[in-house]
Amino acid sequence: MCYANVIINVKTRQLDKLFTYAIPPELRGNILAGHRVVVPFGKGQFADGLVWSLTTEKPSFNVKPIVEKLPDDYMLGPTQLYIMQILRKRYAATYQEAYLAVLPSVQKLDKNLLYTVVRPFDDYTIDHIITNRELTELYSQAEIKAKLKAGYLSKQTKFDFKHKNKTVEWVKPLYQDVTEALATIAPRAVKKRRIIKHMAHLQRLPMRDLTAATRATRRDILALVDGGFLAVEEQIENYAISNYTAADSTTQHKPLSAEQQRVVEQYAALNTPRAALLIGVTGSGKTRVYIELAKQALQSGKQVLVLVPEISLTPQLVARFSEQLTTDIGVIHTYIRPADKVNIYQRIKTGDIKVVIGARSAIFAPFKQLGLIVIDEEHEYSYKSETIPRYQAVELALQLAKKLSIDILLGSATPSIQTHHLVDTGSLKALYLKNAFGPAQLSDIKIVDMTALPKDTLLSSLLIDAITACFARREQVILFHNRKGYARSKQCHSCGYVHMCQNCAVPLTVYEGGNQFVCHYCGYREPQLIKCPSCGNQLVEIGFGIEQIQQQLSVLFPTKTFAVVDSDLTHNQAKYIDTLTAFKAGQIDGLIGTQILAKGLDFANVTLVGVILADQLIHMPDYLSSENAYQLLTQVAGRAGRGDKPGVALIQTYQPEHPLFDYVIKRDFDSFIKEEKQLRDIVGYPPYVTLFTVKIQSENKIAAHQQAQRLYAFYDKNFKRNDIDAQVFQPIQPYYARIRHRYRAQLLFKVKKESRSAVLTMLYYGIVQNKYNLVDSKCWVDIDFDG
Ligand code: ADP
Ligand code: ZN
Repeated sequence: MCYANVIINVKTRQLDKLFTYAIPPELRGNILAGHRVVVPFGKGQFADGLVWSLTTEKPSFNVKPIVEKLPDDYMLGPTQLYIMQILRKRYAATYQEAYLAVLPSVQKLDKNLLYTVVRPFDDYTIDHIITNRELTELYSQAEIKAKLKAGYLSKQTKFDFKHKNKTVEWVKPLYQDVTEALATIAPRAVKKRRIIKHMAHLQRLPMRDLTAATRATRRDILALVDGGFLAVEEQIENYAISNYTAADSTTQHKPLSAEQQRVVEQYAALNTPRAALLIGVTGSGKTRVYIELAKQALQSGKQVLVLVPEISLTPQLVARFSEQLTTDIGVIHTYIRPADKVNIYQRIKTGDIKVVIGARSAIFAPFKQLGLIVIDEEHEYSYKSETIPRYQAVELALQLAKKLSIDILLGSATPSIQTHHLVDTGSLKALYLKNAFGPAQLSDIKIVDMTALPKDTLLSSLLIDAITACFARREQVILFHNRKGYARSKQCHSCGYVHMCQNCAVPLTVYEGGNQFVCHYCGYREPQLIKCPSCGNQLVEIGFGIEQIQQQLSVLFPTKTFAVVDSDLTHNQAKYIDTLTAFKAGQIDGLIGTQILAKGLDFANVTLVGVILADQLIHMPDYLSSENAYQLLTQVAGRAGRGDKPGVALIQTYQPEHPLFDYVIKRDFDSFIKEEKQLRDIVGYPPYVTLFTVKIQSENKIAAHQQAQRLYAFYDKNFKRNDIDAQVFQPIQPYYARIRHRYRAQLLFKVKKESRSAVLTMLYYGIVQNKYNLVDSKCWVDIDFDG
């Protein structure tokens, strides 16, 4: 194996290929697939690369050798390498996109330009190293060029890791006898004597503690090191979960319920690798089952990955896991500090961290020996990546588990139809938890008919009475409404003008009681506007958001406190955790929030849930609309009555007769899903077909339109010509035709399962590689996947 095929981390789609390099003799036998290397790339340049495969075959061209191998700590693991293959095959990712997806951002390399002084000039002596920054501050580009040419300087590219482990310096005494040691130190050296005395009975002490305790400086200590009295060693400071969350001790050592025990046994009895879907009603204690399976995997020396849909859910879940497992838990999410992340990833790689909890991208961690994957709330939309590569984490995990013989358990009260279909086809075994845990009862779900009420009623008297009664019992409420801000938009009463974003073809959302306009797509803000800019008449608010509900509640219940929970709040982790803690402690009486609230929150004192406007969920222009509405209503209703007090969920709607409510009230998931599947089968939607959406964006409206037409014509013709069982539909404009100054167009492909890979290959060559020159340079084109 003298040659390596390397993925180069340089972005260019045309270069979606491997590059061959020679393995120099000193590295031979030491380089494997997954190693990260530095290789020459381009004239006099270097690039960071990943060894993808090895070969003995000598290429016909002259190959250059690998320059450097990065430490084994940074090597990619088996799960990462296999995931890269899936990302390529299933989601049309380029090599580089796949590499960047699995590479933790804290393990990325920084490329620095360095110059070495070869002949002395100005104040510089020979062998002195000058950074690019320093040199460009002092000399012009022309001067630097001249110095290089005349042989004063030589230029190198130096790769260095962006982030490093946090380290601590430990000081250790080397002397046996303190009196003997002091005898050799001058009586005037007061500080040194103090240090020697201080260390006399200690094994070791961090440098910073020693300097503080003895009022000495680092220099004093290093002098004693030179004198042979002390030694200093540097050690990596390990990240500990206790830094992250204080455990709440409610479930400590709680035994499994009989139903939970049965599920654990059923899972253990499955053929390996085990693959199951746990359908457990809200509050049934799915987490307790996950923990039990994690314990078993740990006993057999394997690592465990637990995926959660929302970063905001991790503190609660991590607390529960850390109470019951005696191992360090690696938590991966955006808010962990880089130095800690470096540490976590390294210890996952060595197998020191055995349990990893995180959002979607935690699946890319460099596991040494992954034995179990748990995916909580598997139906959540957040498992789908919104950036390229647009993978679906549940689907990815299932493929990974199958290929590498890893056990997997997906859990939800309301599984996605896509996943549930895998039970029908035999790829997943269904397991059930049908009862809420302990004394908890599933909440009673009731429909509130809004049709007879005055038109802009937000809160029906039924709901207000229920809130009053709930507060009277000193219990808490959760109100759900899926719209952030104060109002959906502002419109002119007389001319119909709607106030839009400057950058997007999107109406601006009204915030702060009407004082702010905000664009949800680009973040653009604008102060309030009272008069219509087009005709001068009054602008009125249309549609209402959670701020308005909070306003009404504060008027109705002036002595109570309410907090708003939406995605803006969850982006501020600390504030979000504070809000939830205050709610748990009873300092807040009610939460009013968007769909964030549906996600796994567990508060025993919440006995009332209100859904302000269910109609808004039912009428989304999307084939997933019923499924999402069912899931959301069931999950939200599941937030009430989780403790020992019974709970009620009130759903306000203008269509009380809608058939969906029947399923929701009865929690008849089986019938709902059966009917929904039949419908999709007939109409041709996932899980029975695959959908690809080709998304086109361009600053030029006509270019976007023509691009869509050109792709449509090409694929339509080629499907027919090659007899491929797939359909491409005439281009459409997405709901919002322009976002951030870019016009958008869209092509939908409906593809029979058998043709999925053939069609994807055609899309890969046509769009990713641009082999047939179909892609206009004025356009961004990418592919989205559904099924
Ligand atoms: P789910 O995720 O299924 O909705 P949870 O895992 O949040 O349910 O559990 C619901 C509640 O029941 C939690 O407060 C949890 O601590 C408690 N619980 C579940 N199983 C047990 C158990 N075996 N012993 C004690 N408490 C449990
Ligand atoms: Zn905008």
